[in-house]
Amino acid sequence: MSNCIFCDILLGKIPSSVVHQDDSCIAFLDIQPVNPGHVLVIPNSHASNLAELDAGVASKLFTVAQRVAAALRESGEIRCEGVNLLLADGEAAGQEVFHVHLHVFPRFKGDGFGYKFPARYSDRPERSELDAVALAIRNRLRAAH
Ligand code: AMP
Ligand code: ZN
Repeated sequence: MSNCIFCDILLGKIPSSVVHQDDSCIAFLDIQPVNPGHVLVIPNSHASNLAELDAGVASKLFTVAQRVAAALRESGEIRCEGVNLLLADGEAAGQEVFHVHLHVFPRFKGDGFGYKFPARYSDRPERSELDAVALAIRNRLRAAH
């Protein structure tokens, strides 16, 4: 796709530091890492968001992410006490590049990365509220298949 920075990386038009490549996906270093060893795993075919991504390719992305996570933990050269996988789907979720990508990055105590929770987070919802939300999702899951 034109105007897609990650398609440009796939085409070799802009530089990247590749750690893995196969017929479904490529994994390369994020240009602005949370911590050293921050990898992005992306599909070879452009998909703007999760809904556009082929389910088979999605499972391959996760398999590559799992292998990259193990490599980060076992390299002996990269500080890695834990690993986060993160996929931002949609602008409201923090997606900035609209070619699906799965972040895989090492974590260690005191690395400064963290999540910010809303104020209402400390108020746990009633079970009835959780059940109502679960029902809405279940209904949609059933309708979609
Ligand atoms: P997101 O906010 O989930 O869409 O993340 C986009 C990520 O792409 C950010 O972490 C950027 O640092 C990263 N990024 C943007 N341009 C490049 C590039 N040319 N090479 C590698 N990573 C990039
Ligand atoms: Zn693309």
